[in-house]
Amino acid sequence: MANQFYSKRNLQFLLYEVFDTESLTQYNYYQDHARETFDMVLDSAEQISEKLLKPLLTEMDRKEPQLVDGKIKIHEGMFPILKKFGEDGWINAGFNYDEGGQQIPSTVLSSAAFIFQAANYSSSVFPFLTSGAANLIRSFGSQELKDTFTPKMYTGDWQGTMALTEPDAGSSLSDITTTAEPTENQGVYKIKGQKIYISAGDHDGCDNVIHLMLAKIKGGPSGAKGISLFVVPQKRTQNSELISNDVITAGVYHKMGYKGAPIAHLMVGSNDNTFGYLVGEPHKGLSYMFQMMNEARIGVGMNATAIGTAAYYASLEYAKERPQGRVISDKDITKPQVQIIRHADVKRMLLFQKAVVEGSLALLTQCSMYADLASVTEGEEREHYHLLLDLLTPIAKSYPSEMCCLTTSAAVQILGGAGYTTDFPVEQFYREARIHPIHEGTTGIHGLDLLGRKIIIKNGKSLQLLVAEMLKTIEKANSIDRLKPFAQKLQVYLGKADTVTKHLLSLASKDLEIFLSDATLYLELFGIMTISWQWLVQAIKAEEALLAGATGNDFDFYQGKIFTLRYFYEYELVKIDSLMKRLLSEDNVTVEMEAGWF
Ligand SMILES: Cc1cc2nc3c(=O)[nH]c(=O)nc-3n(C[C@H](O)[C@H](O)[C@H](O)COP(=O)(O)OP(=O)(O)OC[C@H]3O[C@@H](n4cnc5c(N)ncnc54)[C@H](O)[C@@H]3O)c2cc1C
Repeated sequence: MANQFYSKRNLQFLLYEVFDTESLTQYNYYQDHARETFDMVLDSAEQISEKLLKPLLTEMDRKEPQLVDGKIKIHEGMFPILKKFGEDGWINAGFNYDEGGQQIPSTVLSSAAFIFQAANYSSSVFPFLTSGAANLIRSFGSQELKDTFTPKMYTGDWQGTMALTEPDAGSSLSDITTTAEPTENQGVYKIKGQKIYISAGDHDGCDNVIHLMLAKIKGGPSGAKGISLFVVPQKRTQNSELISNDVITAGVYHKMGYKGAPIAHLMVGSNDNTFGYLVGEPHKGLSYMFQMMNEARIGVGMNATAIGTAAYYASLEYAKERPQGRVISDKDITKPQVQIIRHADVKRMLLFQKAVVEGSLALLTQCSMYADLASVTEGEEREHYHLLLDLLTPIAKSYPSEMCCLTTSAAVQILGGAGYTTDFPVEQFYREARIHPIHEGTTGIHGLDLLGRKIIIKNGKSLQLLVAEMLKTIEKANSIDRLKPFAQKLQVYLGKADTVTKHLLSLASKDLEIFLSDATLYLELFGIMTISWQWLVQAIKAEEALLAGATGNDFDFYQGKIFTLRYFYEYELVKIDSLMKRLLSEDNVTVEMEAGWF
């Protein structure tokens, strides 16, 4: 079993050297904090991960949740973990003091989540689902809903979920058919329908499950405009007792990875006895749910990055120890074999992983900073951060999700035959990475969101803001000798990306289907540009530290950053050329191909 599963040094580099997380303490909301409290949060996450989460990584993969007598039974090792998450206040750590929270910035909390996820992804999801669900109630629900549900969610006694997907409505949520019928009690509705793939939708590690569920009020507008949001508890309170709310667990899914988490199929109101409580106003459910989905999307990018990071360190450790073959220039058979990390091709696979996971973590930390700044600033400044975060969300979700399927594959490859066996953890990481391009909106849907919506809204203002941020980084890097060539290269590719964007937008008014047919490739191009920018951002700090005379481990760390920048620009940034060629092509083969010709 690999020992290192993440790099504390890298996390600290991002939080304190690159993004200056401490500067958040100048705002009232975070004024009680300092680097010491942030470090305490991260140290505590590391301790819990090492003591409780990591030892269960393989166990939870082998002993999946089971449906027994209508109840999903999870691995019993999860019980103390769930208790700990509740007792230590992880679920509401970011919320206000008067709600029992600790007002910790999401930049710090998402870094702590990254540590949990890298240690054991399945076990990390429970508290964050509850946190997101509770956040929806506190943001949009009535005082009564807040008082009824959130306290026990914060302690972890009650699990929270997001219940959107149905058998005939996955990507297309406007097609949901779960219904809500008003009762004589205002705000209380009878709910009927079914929900599938609901993460933590039922399990025996909690007393109740609080579903934040989308349904359509009968007689309301059709499509997405008719969707409302409800709190639908698994059990409701009657005379101070918890009784069944007719939410039945019809099944538990058996999955290729992420096996420790219980994913439920739920039947709602089969006996006409499910009550749901309206959150906010009728028909605004999807816009409310977007708060949780956007948080979750950044979270999914982080999950993928964390799994990719754990796989990277497992393969790095192996590559340093495994002797095999000799260096190409020295084939003397009498000499001992060299460790495989000496082979350029193995270094290429390690650099690929390092470049993707550390580049992704930088982007995700940047997004969390934007989220924190958007929550504490006002007016134009607030809008500035909101627009940047909104534009970057599909990238921050999809780039790590797609790429960590490839990086975990590279980790398996580095271990050779051993990587394919269950004796080593990399095959598990490879399987666990695969969910991320699917849930919280598939990559295809995020491509459509980026090209069809995000870069157009407000007359392209978000894109202008992002380009301005990139140009600021380019300008800074241009003043540092060693980084000048990279700054110039990024500028050239920024121009190429602009050509592609303008070309695609010119198609929008002519043929919508052609305009959006390669939205996923545009998302890929945008992802590479964004991560290239994030590598230059990191390299500026690394080179400054090297110029200031960093030595020893620090020298190695910063030098590693510069070499990974080199790798990214040499191997990844240039992929934009082939994407550009395709995106500027007049050939519309995917649109013109017919179903019958396959
Ligand atoms: C392990 C797991 C956990 C999950 N957890 C939750 C949860 O907690 N809560 C919840 O509500 N849901 C959850 N989901 C559901 C998940 O969000 C959906 O599976 C996902 O949104 C895709 O929907 P779908 O499976 O119906 O696929 P579909 O929507 O049928 O998509 C199939 C394929 O078609 C493509 N496609 C679909 N529509 C279009 C289009 N208009 N244009 C181009 N391509 C398109 C998609 O990109 C995809 O490649 C979970 C799923 C899994 C597997």
